[in-house]
Order: sequence, then structure tokens, then C-alpha cells
Amino acid sequence: MAALPWHDIDTVLLDMDGTLLDLHFDNHFWLEHLPQRYAELHGVSRAMAEMELQPLFERHAGQLQWYCLDFWSAELKLSVRELKLETAHLIALRPDADTFLAAIKKAGKRVVMITNAHRDSLSLKLERIELAPYFERLISSHDYGFPKESPQFWDALQADLDFDPARSLFIDDTLPILRSAREFGVAHLLAVSEPDSRKGPKDTGEFGAVGDYRDLVAGL
Ligand SMILES: [Mg+2]
Repeated sequence: MAALPWHDIDTVLLDMDGTLLDLHFDNHFWLEHLPQRYAELHGVSRAMAEMELQPLFERHAGQLQWYCLDFWSAELKLSVRELKLETAHLIALRPDADTFLAAIKKAGKRVVMITNAHRDSLSLKLERIELAPYFERLISSHDYGFPKESPQFWDALQADLDFDPARSLFIDDTLPILRSAREFGVAHLLAVSEPDSRKGPKDTGEFGAVGDYRDLVAGL
């Protein structure tokens, strides 16, 4: 990964899950814990639970309600919030994400979190990992009513923050979201090479990717 032109960057926009936090928590929750607990709570087999959940997941992927705990609680007739608490010990920072956050804050960059996570998921995580002090703002796309994948999200963010996309860096582990940011004109974009610590490196397409956060602060 080439060094970042830090003198051309004054705003840093950061995703949360898979970027600052290990995506293992979310993957484990949605792919293992939820199907297992769904099976137990509704008295069906694990295989039957998977068969019922799979089409629902496919139908709602990439939409705002995908990230909405109330939606899934109503849809699945269980408390997603309570089930998440059962696995909350898996919520963890990605290696050296805190070093990176401390360095960009100290360098005087404007640091803003932009996440598709629902406010409830956000607080569940921020109660366990001390991220909030590094940020000027913590923005959930639910506040605007559009997910980060949508061009309307970026218009709303611009109206809210009054930032210069040409002087901004955005890091996110989801490629369609990076493409949406690129369309809007965000000049510096990075993916994450290993968002889930248990899954190994992923293909980051046309984007450069953060491997080690300590490399990123070189030249700050
Ligand atoms: Mg993410």
C-alpha cells in the first residue's frame, strides 16, 4: 500500500464494523448464534432455521432495514438486542485501530464515524470499546434514512458536515459502499484487507486496502 498524502487530507471518515472493529462478532452473530437461538426459541431444527432465515437475509441485504434491530426482532419474533448481548464478549477492536485513531486525532484531522449500524448496535459496541472520544461525530445512516450505499446518504452527509470530498479519506470494508463514496467524489478511499480476523484476507477489488494500521500513520 502506497503512503497516504496526509497533507492533502483534512477529514477522515471511518466505518465501524469490519473497519475499526473485528467483523468476527457480526459474522458469528448472524451466521451462527442467531440461527442456533432461532432454532431453539421456535422449536425447529437448525437446518430448518437456516432454510427460513436464508431467503430473508438475501431479500434485505444492502437495505437500511438490514441494519435495523427492530425490523429483525419483529420479523423473527425474538429479541435481537438480547441475543446480541449473549455474544457481546466477541466485540473487539481490530489490531492497532486505536493507535491509528489516536494519531489522526493528534494530527488535527477531523474524524467522523459513518456507519450503517443501527443506534442500538452502535451503543452496544461503544459501551464495550472506547471509541467515542476519538470522534467529532458518530453518524448512523439511520439518522438520514439512507444507507451508505445510496447517493442520497452522501448528499445528506455533505449538508450535515460541510466537508470537502476532495480532501477526505474514507475507509470501509464494504466495496459497494466505497464505490458509492467514489461516485460522490471522495478522493482517498481504502478498503480493509482482513475485516474478519477468523476469515483471512479478502479480495478488495480495485481498491487499495489497510493491512496494518501502523503503516497508515507513517508520514502523518
Ligand atoms: Mg463495515
